[in-house]
Amino acid sequence: MTSIFEEEITLFADLILPVPIPSLFTYRVPREMSGMIKVGARVIVQFGQKRVITAVVANIHSNPPSKYQAKYILELLDDEPIVTKRQLELFNWVSEYYLCNIGDVLNIALPAGLKITSQSRIQINPEFEYDDLLTDQERIVVDEIKKHQTLSYEEVERLLQRSNITAIIKSLVGKRAVILFEEVKERYKPKVVRKIRLNASYTSNDALSKLAGSLDKTPKQQEILLKYLSYIPVYNNPDLNQKGLDKSIFSQDDNVSDASLNTLIKKGIFEQFEIFISRFDDIPASNAVITLTETQKKASQQIHEFFAEKEVVLLHGITGSGKTEVYIELIKQVLESGLQVLFLLPEIALTTQIVVRLRKVFGDTMGIYHSKFSDNERVEVWKGILDGKFQFVVGVRSAVFLPFDNLGLIIVDEEHETSYKQHDPAPRYNARDVAVIMSYMHKGKTLLGSATPSLESYYHAQTGRYGFVEMKQRFGNAALPTFELIDTKKEKKSKKMKNEFSSVLIDHLKLNLQNKEQTILFQNRRGYSPYLQCEICNWIPECANCDVSLTYHMKAGEVRCHYCGHKEEVPRTCPQCGSTQVKTMGYGTEKIEDEIHSMFPEARVQRMDLDTTRAKNAYQQIISEFEEGGIDILVGTQMVSKGLDFDNVSIVGIFDADRMIHFPEFRASERAFQMLTQVSGRAGRRAEKPGKVLIQTSNPGQKLLERIINNDYEGMYASEIEEREKFHYPPFTRLIKVTVRHVDEATSSKAAKILAEKLTANLGASRVLGPQPPLVERVRNQFLFDILIKLEREKINFKAAKSFIQEKVIDILTDKTLKSIQVVIDVDCL
Ligand code: ADP
Ligand code: ZN
Ligand code: ZN
Repeated sequence: MTSIFEEEITLFADLILPVPIPSLFTYRVPREMSGMIKVGARVIVQFGQKRVITAVVANIHSNPPSKYQAKYILELLDDEPIVTKRQLELFNWVSEYYLCNIGDVLNIALPAGLKITSQSRIQINPEFEYDDLLTDQERIVVDEIKKHQTLSYEEVERLLQRSNITAIIKSLVGKRAVILFEEVKERYKPKVVRKIRLNASYTSNDALSKLAGSLDKTPKQQEILLKYLSYIPVYNNPDLNQKGLDKSIFSQDDNVSDASLNTLIKKGIFEQFEIFISRFDDIPASNAVITLTETQKKASQQIHEFFAEKEVVLLHGITGSGKTEVYIELIKQVLESGLQVLFLLPEIALTTQIVVRLRKVFGDTMGIYHSKFSDNERVEVWKGILDGKFQFVVGVRSAVFLPFDNLGLIIVDEEHETSYKQHDPAPRYNARDVAVIMSYMHKGKTLLGSATPSLESYYHAQTGRYGFVEMKQRFGNAALPTFELIDTKKEKKSKKMKNEFSSVLIDHLKLNLQNKEQTILFQNRRGYSPYLQCEICNWIPECANCDVSLTYHMKAGEVRCHYCGHKEEVPRTCPQCGSTQVKTMGYGTEKIEDEIHSMFPEARVQRMDLDTTRAKNAYQQIISEFEEGGIDILVGTQMVSKGLDFDNVSIVGIFDADRMIHFPEFRASERAFQMLTQVSGRAGRRAEKPGKVLIQTSNPGQKLLERIINNDYEGMYASEIEEREKFHYPPFTRLIKVTVRHVDEATSSKAAKILAEKLTANLGASRVLGPQPPLVERVRNQFLFDILIKLEREKINFKAAKSFIQEKVIDILTDKTLKSIQVVIDVDCL
């Protein structure tokens, strides 16, 4: 507070607005707010003529903006910051590094429940000064608003006793007397439970029996008392009364009327109260002691030693080596030292087993942050971190934006997963890389874990930038699965294939069913078949908006575009030649499932892909059913490979490995190795029951397959890293992809060419590839062109190069001849 002797200073606040503008905006702090406003608090401001939005305070100072007249902040929402200083620092870093607006970062970071809902109200414009311009009616409205601060439309209607008030409101807005704003109403609603308990004066045995007697004449009320006592035996232990009983227990009981209960409350015999409860089930912490194995102990110790000198450690532990227990040990230690811990998991892995395991250890002191959770749940985690309830959070990539202020450790499990990178919309960040920066800001540490590390992280570990720890044995000495490569060319020649199934695979499926053991079949493509084709004229149904063929979904009886969601009925005849011979080509999970049904009608089959797991708990249900033995054969896309740990899986069958290996992309080998190794890792996790992996391929001699079956990550790394160095790809360079989009192909192509030329002029032709159309050239009716920029890690000033690129992109965006062109910049694109 300013004392009366000091000259009062006018304060200004720089705000982060959740809109796509490149800089902070300065607003004026009203006098009455100046003692209260804090950096990190939310405020309501007017933006543009009509919009009113929630913003976050980034700085407070006394310098008015030089280029515009600062508007007043309308309202302060928080007494205490809901965004920490460390977060603001991180938001800044993300926006600078990934070349996006800080408002975009805020938008992704804040759960919708911390933004406001809209319901238009009218309030006085703080800059309004009374003048004679107002009509009588307008003056009535203004005076009334002054009395009440704000009015709703209906209140104005009532005030003027007329129903059409829009003209008056419009005129008032035009005269800058009032502004319309969306009512500040937080969307977040805590979950409450209504409870009742006995008035404290009735809890002694004496008082209780007197009370019971006095209710003799009102048997219904007496019954309620007895029912209460049957749940809460107050006469045995008066302290039990304090917690009370859920009121709903009575309302569900047909014999109890609400009226009688309410009478008891009115009489003061019972009292009603409310408690706020967390939306997360209270799984209690169990004290199940897990003793680390020697391998785990050693790994844990090495991690500690490395942390003494390095910021980041990579833990390379093969599938089933027990990385989770090593994490748990570490998390416990960091929490004991009073620091916060964040555990990042890929989206899909989070809904299952690992969370249950962590919950058993950490109970409800652990927050869970998942995109399938409701917004209320996310707000609860946000607030729980701020008020200290959650020192430990398990979450998906966006959890890096939570309000931590004192992180000691971030674990990134399955660090190679591409789902850590956000593709759309901005910020196009990689949560793994953000985690490293973030723990640096907090002076904490990062542990990256994987059975198949990304080439980037492994490279940093080999060159000494990261610490490096290995676990090369499975827990409990379970053997790694054995492999068999099945030559589909040979099988086809000798006519042994049955559709997509080799005879070897069929034999194994049969045997496994007989032995009552489980099988996982992996085909990384959903739908029935990737396309239909007319056998007579070769016509293929394609998407109207994108340059791809439509995928056939048999159950739905549709063909669908996997890029834009466009759907059509299956054509019965070929629209081009009229023939009825429109056949399915290629195959996806749905077709595999279908064929299993016809080959093994008795088998219990379940499919797990994007199409069968859309509902909130669908994924979890399939996993549980499989765990409990209710499914014999699980057919799925890469979803089946994500961190699952099953006991009884003895066969894993892999279709179409070739397509993954030969995908036209420089990361194809790395990806194929990771995916196939991860899927294989689901087999034979019990020591007494080693598993078997069957890979169908038309070329069993491929080097990469040999490396996969020998679990030879090092070999794969050595050959890949050589290629990467030779052709200037990551980790030796950083990649930035600039994508130009326009509905008109010529405009798009022209813009891309101009941009590429501008970039090449300064960066040199060897660093700028393209423009070239991506694999799918048209998406949602827009024509795409990619420019790929490769910047050497050591030689180039990354920051300077990025601002140069951004400048040139702005040139294109503001070029009048290239109207409504769109450009997307993706830093560290995958
Ligand atoms: P990873 O994540 O490295 O693939 P997990 O952490 O899933 O491996 O561990 C594999 C299995 O071994 C799990 O079922 C886990 O419960 C079990 N396990 C690992 N370490 C221990 C231990 N020290 N004591 C008991 N069980 C363990
Ligand atoms: Zn045809
Ligand atoms: Zn489409």
